[in-house]
Amino acid sequence: MSRSPKQAPAAMPPNPELDAMLAQALGKGDAVAGGADAAEAEDTAAPVASGPQRCGFVAIVGKPNVGKSTLLNALVGQKVSITSSKAQTTRHRITGLRTLGATQFIFVDTPGFQTKHGNALNRSLNKTVVGAVSDVDLVLFVVEAGKFNLADAKVLSLMPADVPVMLVANKFDLVHRRGELAPWLRAMQERHPFAEFVPMSAKNSKDIQRLFGICEQYLPEQAWMHDPDDLTDRSERFMASEMVREKLFRLTGDELPYTSTVIIDKFEEEGRLRRIAATIVVERDGHKGMVIGDKGEKLKRIGTEARQELEKLWDCKVFLELWVKVRSGWADDDARVRSFGYE
Ligand code: GDP
Ligand code: MG
Repeated sequence: MSRSPKQAPAAMPPNPELDAMLAQALGKGDAVAGGADAAEAEDTAAPVASGPQRCGFVAIVGKPNVGKSTLLNALVGQKVSITSSKAQTTRHRITGLRTLGATQFIFVDTPGFQTKHGNALNRSLNKTVVGAVSDVDLVLFVVEAGKFNLADAKVLSLMPADVPVMLVANKFDLVHRRGELAPWLRAMQERHPFAEFVPMSAKNSKDIQRLFGICEQYLPEQAWMHDPDDLTDRSERFMASEMVREKLFRLTGDELPYTSTVIIDKFEEEGRLRRIAATIVVERDGHKGMVIGDKGEKLKRIGTEARQELEKLWDCKVFLELWVKVRSGWADDDARVRSFGYE
């Protein structure tokens, strides 16, 4: 399945150091992701409370569908309600915070890198990706283990040379012959001087613990920038539009162009209740039909799934009202793109 844009590199010179590193990465991945939930605690290196405070930025990048959101949610932890008590003090797009032991991890999420069209919206999104990775302490470049195609290559080409980039070979649980990953990892090292190789599964909690331990070493010793209990500095309003957007694209599959967006028209708090009205803006009448579905069934599902996730996230009741509007050509109009909240 791995259709690489270039041919596999011809006869690489032997590199015992690299081989040892890969063998170690694979061995660890095998022990952690491969085992059932047997006690393998000694293999996990979660941050410990001793030592000076560390704090730094970690960007999560990769083409759509490789597991970035799953990873971010697992890293931030979903059980506690999201708070937005702190004003955003940096130019980063911060969506997740986690403080473990002496270390505060500030995760910088990026919109999926868009390769299909060169319009104003995509240029804006791509600029955001480049901006997000240029000034962080570590980049997690997420791919599906054993796979690498043109879309992955395009994202990789945006990685800055002066920031350590970790290869997260996600969905390792789907790889049946793990030994076959070694040549793939070697080929990946030819593509970019990755600082680390981490075969893992974002759905495996031990892998997540191990990832924290690896990331920690790349964060500078400095005072925490946020309250250790905070999980995000994004507003609930923003989270609501992201959640609808996620369900929209998940449930319409590849049919719906990425230029569709979500606007929050109303966001009201009444005690343990949130009343939200949102509009899904699509480019054509045909797209409107796709979103609404047969007898409104698709739109209803988008609404239900988004509502349920928001209720879980905030631990409160949510009323969510969704509308669909056609706004032809807006993706090619810089001014309109800006007015919808993209920088
Ligand atoms: P994103 O577009 O990169 O944010 O990807 P998502 O986090 O939305 O994940 C895309 C799909 O991959 C979802 O169906 C996830 O449940 C699934 N997924 C994510 N991580 C893993 C993993 O480690 N193993 C498996 N089997 N599936 C995963
Ligand atoms: Mg995502």
